[in-house]
Amino acid sequence: MKSINTILIANRGEIASRVIRTCKKMGITSVAVYADADKNAPFVRQADLAVHIGASEPSQSYLDQDKIIAAAKRTGADAIHPGYGFLSENADFARLCKAEGIIFIGPNPEAIAAMGSKSKAKAMMKRAGVPVVPGYDGEDQSEATLKTEALKIGFPVLLKATAGGGGKGMRIVHEEKEITTAIASAKREAKNAFGDDELLIEKYIASGRHIEFQIFGDQHKHVIHLLERECSIQRRYQKVIEESPSPIMTEALRKSMGDAAVLAAQAMDYDNAGTVEFIYDDTSGAFYFLEINTRLQVEHPVTEAITGLDMVQMQIQSAQGTPLQITQEEVVGNGYAIEARLYAEDAANNYAPVTGKIHNYQFPDVDGLRVESAIESGSEISIFYDPMIAKIIVKDSNRINAHTKLLYVLQQFICQGIVTNLPFLKTLLQHEDFQKGNYNTHFVQEKIDLSQINKISDQQIQEVAIVATLYDWNKREQSRKTLRSLPSGWRNNCYQYQKEVFHIGEQVVQLQYQYVEDGFVFLFEDKERKVAMIGIDETTLCIDIDGLQKTYAVAKVGEDYFVHSPTIGNVKITQEDRFPIKEKEKVSGGYESPIPSQVVKINIQSGDAIKEGDPLIVLSSMKMENVLVANQDGKVEEIYVAEGQNVEAGFLLLKINEE
Ligand code: ADP
Repeated sequence: MKSINTILIANRGEIASRVIRTCKKMGITSVAVYADADKNAPFVRQADLAVHIGASEPSQSYLDQDKIIAAAKRTGADAIHPGYGFLSENADFARLCKAEGIIFIGPNPEAIAAMGSKSKAKAMMKRAGVPVVPGYDGEDQSEATLKTEALKIGFPVLLKATAGGGGKGMRIVHEEKEITTAIASAKREAKNAFGDDELLIEKYIASGRHIEFQIFGDQHKHVIHLLERECSIQRRYQKVIEESPSPIMTEALRKSMGDAAVLAAQAMDYDNAGTVEFIYDDTSGAFYFLEINTRLQVEHPVTEAITGLDMVQMQIQSAQGTPLQITQEEVVGNGYAIEARLYAEDAANNYAPVTGKIHNYQFPDVDGLRVESAIESGSEISIFYDPMIAKIIVKDSNRINAHTKLLYVLQQFICQGIVTNLPFLKTLLQHEDFQKGNYNTHFVQEKIDLSQINKISDQQIQEVAIVATLYDWNKREQSRKTLRSLPSGWRNNCYQYQKEVFHIGEQVVQLQYQYVEDGFVFLFEDKERKVAMIGIDETTLCIDIDGLQKTYAVAKVGEDYFVHSPTIGNVKITQEDRFPIKEKEKVSGGYESPIPSQVVKINIQSGDAIKEGDPLIVLSSMKMENVLVANQDGKVEEIYVAEGQNVEAGFLLLKINEE
């Protein structure tokens, strides 16, 4: 048994912070590695040592195996924790660590390799007696065979990339006539994402729940499970909310699924932390193996909350050869835990990732709340990485209490500067079916009306406009006082009615206000509101509107005010007279970047003749690739960008002469 003294964390953001915390607890020196974009990130400061490893693109930093090994050597790290994503499920990297005499904190490379292919993993599980989804996972990839096999399974079927992950390369096929196109597009996406276009076919479980079991093994052939997590609340096949225990779990089902999870792990001599994912068929009550993730999961805090275990500590112990310190019987779930993932994305705009600066970022102090965060006030969200910015975990004695508490936390949470999925999360939590535990993996798509999630009432819009007006009024008042050294106290001033016009999203608010004896009167189209100023400083404003006193968090940046209140959420409001006149000329035949992105590949050259549907430029933003295709036949007149260039939303990329 070798004792680990220094751990290099080959990752970034919240998971790097998470690992560093356990290192400190165990008296182990922690080393962060960071790319350009992360220079000011909290995890870099939190580590005992930090090494800059290169440019922001993951391929030049977090995915560069040689740079990471060199950083480990330089800092005397005797172990590497890969976190999740990046190199965490790369068997070659695990082997390289071993060859370099560095402990890889994760399972043995053979186990990682065995799970690298979904079809090989399924075959292995079938042999071990673990139930798998009926389907085809053979080597013959001809269209004819794939078609025949799909017919044999019976529609609907699901096509999956065998090398897949993150929902890429998956296609649901409902009937025979869709299959040819679906095979072609799934293969194309798989080839692009994983460099491998092999597919497998599965029976599509129409009403399925994603239930996974946390497993843990040591190097002495002991394997246990640490209970389940239900992760059916997904968007684009990716989890947004995870909870444990699962609302549908019974002792008998937990026993049979838990046994199957342990059997799956034993079949591959598993050591360290892993997750066995199952799909549970709501209609029949059967469950099937989906895959094993051979790493720590994003949602591991849910398991930590109910078991009281520190899974990173267990990982470190397992990697240095310590036998498991706990038996299956000793694993006891206590209470209930839920995790919500906060993303920098606009759910109402098809979950488009969002970049920008967060000016003010504050969580309330609530018992049982754990926040795993990548950022802090002042952080920039860049285009280079995954848009997840925090995980919000709440634990309580039962499901209802924990849901109430999580909703309270989300309401109190101040996050000013960029759009996040916060309104989406609040909507999810308040949905009756979710509260009843009555959901499957289609819940988000079928039950959440995205067009409604950002809506605020007219009354709330007025409230926000009042806050912005008074915040600005106070600012002017302050500067006037310092300039003219008038006696302090705004009560001495007298005003005529002032007019203001604000914009919130698409909506326009017009108001008039006047200072009166003991406060202000605001006139809106339909009503008058009496406002008293209670207190104000740089970031908060406490006012009484029509007899109800509330505190608002305010940040002003340029013409924009960011206003937060627990009942309204985080809102951006813009004052009209300072409203930028963005009369951007639309170039005919011009193609613009839809979101802030990096130009990954340019498929065309100036002068090329192109056909409608031709892929022109591949853009990448926050791990997602976006292919810009020609919407008409024509000729490329000019290209304004180069590969590798970063562009803002709306940036003109190229111009086509349409024929
Ligand atoms: P990935 O590795 O890309 O995440 P998974 O195999 O883990 O792919 O599946 C991701 C999600 O897709 C699951 O959580 C589930 O919602 C859905 N899914 C996977 N297989 C099936 C299936 N056979 N039937 C219905 N839904 C499925």
